[in-house]
Order: sequence, then C-alpha cells, then structure tokens
Amino acid sequence: MKKTAHSFTIAILIVLVGCTASRTDRIVVEGNEPKNIILLIGDGMGLTQVSTTYYYQDEPSNFSRFKHIGLHENMPTSHKVTDSAAGATAFSAGVKTYNGAIGVDQDTVPVPTILEMVAAAGWSTGLIATSSIQHATPASFYAHTAQRSSYEEIARQLVYAPVNFIAGGGLEYFTDRDDNINYVDSLTHQGFDINEDALLGSLLDINHKYAYLLADDAMPKMQDGRGDFLPKATKMAIDHLSQDKDGFFLMIEGSQIDWGGHNNDADYVIQETLDFDKTIGVALDFAEKDQNTLVIVTADHETGGLSLSASTVFGQGDYSNITPTFSTGNHSAALIPVFAYGPGAEYFMGIYQNNAIFYKMLKAIKMDAPKSAKKK
Ligand code: MG
Ligand code: ZN
Repeated sequence: MKKTAHSFTIAILIVLVGCTASRTDRIVVEGNEPKNIILLIGDGMGLTQVSTTYYYQDEPSNFSRFKHIGLHENMPTSHKVTDSAAGATAFSAGVKTYNGAIGVDQDTVPVPTILEMVAAAGWSTGLIATSSIQHATPASFYAHTAQRSSYEEIARQLVYAPVNFIAGGGLEYFTDRDDNINYVDSLTHQGFDINEDALLGSLLDINHKYAYLLADDAMPKMQDGRGDFLPKATKMAIDHLSQDKDGFFLMIEGSQIDWGGHNNDADYVIQETLDFDKTIGVALDFAEKDQNTLVIVTADHETGGLSLSASTVFGQGDYSNITPTFSTGNHSAALIPVFAYGPGAEYFMGIYQNNAIFYKMLKAIKMDAPKSAKKK
C-alpha cells in the first residue's frame, strides 16, 4: 500500500514535470501569438453589404462566427473619401496615404508591407483576388508605385515579390505589354508553376510556387458564372501554405463587391458578397481546427451608399419587403466593420484608424514595426 502510494507520488511528479515542460512549449507555440494570418478584404463591403448575407441566403452567415468586432475610420491624406489603393496601403503598410498610392506613403516613398516583412521572417505568402492580381487592393501588398494605374509595372514587381501562391486574373499585364517582355516566362524563372486554365491540384508541393492566372484582366462576375473560384482558391492556398511550419500570410480579396456598388446593381453586390461569405467560411473552418491562425475580415470602404430599405408600394412603406437602394455610384465615407477570430483577435475591438490594422497584426505576431513607417 505504502509502496503503491510512493510510486503514485513519483508518477504524479513525473506527470507534473512533463506538464510543466509541455505547457511551456504550448505557451510559446499557442500563447497569444498566431502562426498564420488570413486577411480577407471585401472591397466596397460596408455593414449593409455584410447584412445581405443575413437576408439573401438560406445558410447562416459566416459573419456570425466572429466574437471580436471593431470599426475603422478610413479617410486618406488627400481626400475625405478613400479609394482602394490608399485603403489597402493603410492595411498593408500602416501608412495613411493619398488616393491612388500603391505601397507608398504620401510623399510617394515606398514603405515595407506586412507581406514583405513576414516573408523576410520565413513565412510563406499568398494573394487571391477576383479582380486582376495587379489591381489596387492586392497590389498594395507587394508593389510600390505612385499610381494604381501602372498595371504593367505592378506586374513586373510581382514577379520579384516574395509571394508563393497567386490566384486571380491579370494574365495580360504579364504577356501583352508595352515593353514586349513576357513576364510569365519570368515567373517561371522565379520558380512558379503557372496555370492559365483552371484551379487544379491539392496539397501542392511546398517547394514550388503557384500562379493561377485565369483571366486576362478581371475574373468573371458571379452572375457570369465564376462559380466557386474564390472559396476553392482559398482552400487550395491554405492547404498549400499551411505546410510551412514557419507560418503563412494570405490576403484574399472579394474584389467585385465594389464593382456591383459602382454599377448600383444590387444583385451583383449580393452575389459577390455571398461568395465572399462562403470564402470566409473556408478560412474559419481552417482557423477553428488550427487554433494558431488569426483571421481578419474587413473592407477598404463602402461603395454605393447601399441601404436595405423597406419597400415602398403606392407611396406607403411596405415593411414586409426589402428593396436594396443606392445613394451614389461612388464610394462612401462610412466607418467600416472589422471582424477577427483567433489569437490576437481581441486587438481588433474598438474604433480606430484603418492603418491601425497593420500595427494590430504586427502586435499579434510580436513583430516590430518598420522604422520607416510613421504612425499617424
Ligand atoms: Mg479592390
Ligand atoms: Zn471602388
């Protein structure tokens, strides 16, 4: 009996010592520090666009899976209302800049982006968009140009950027250029496997880089049969990039929510937003299993001044029906919601400037801000 108790004590001691060691490891690995960041940007997606995921589908909205929610102010340095270039550069590099700026500050000086910074720390990186991959939002994560319209220069810079996975449109900016250089060949020289036809493959070779360039310019609209490109590319990117034990950064853009807003085409906005919602589900399914991934969903700005109005019938309010109505064909100045999940998600609560999102991501992964970035 006594001997058994003694053995039992030793056993407990061994278990305790074992626990101490493994708990220390867990604090380092799991603590409050994500290994991966997935940033989803719904271009032009204000709170009303988010609300469509509650009214226009049978499935539950994936936005309900977030518990940490904030709002960002998004005024650029040059105007009162932001464009997508200044909006994305605020997220990617932490600077307030002028409309049209891609990865440069208000004096057109290039500023390091979070994608470049984590890549330098050994992370793998990926970019997915339903626009061309050279469009303002994705470009702001890897390129540095004074003007967003410099698509050919942005494409050239992408070839040499530290990116491991690309999916979207924009093939023509590599192949049909004023300088007659074929930058798809250059991508191949940089180690990319190129696919111009379809999203093929699963658990891709971690030693390879992949570029899925599936349209000359933008990808088709959902209304024109884009299908499951965005959620599927997201799943492929996560399967691929999560093989990197150092971590990964993945930016996914629902680019065309904005374009539906500019067109004042409610069905266009809704179809694009529902597709984006499904994509958020893919990211959250991974993050919930992984428990080491910070997922952030936000937008650069709202587009269209969309509201979900009670319908009007013979001059009377019909509160049984909703009519989406737009107040502008342009962007609006509304505060924009931010949804976060995973380690570090609590940093994204509250109301703050759009460029604070860059610093919050760095804080979450305990990475120092670049000296060149002026916090404004
Ligand atoms: Mg965009
Ligand atoms: Zn726009």
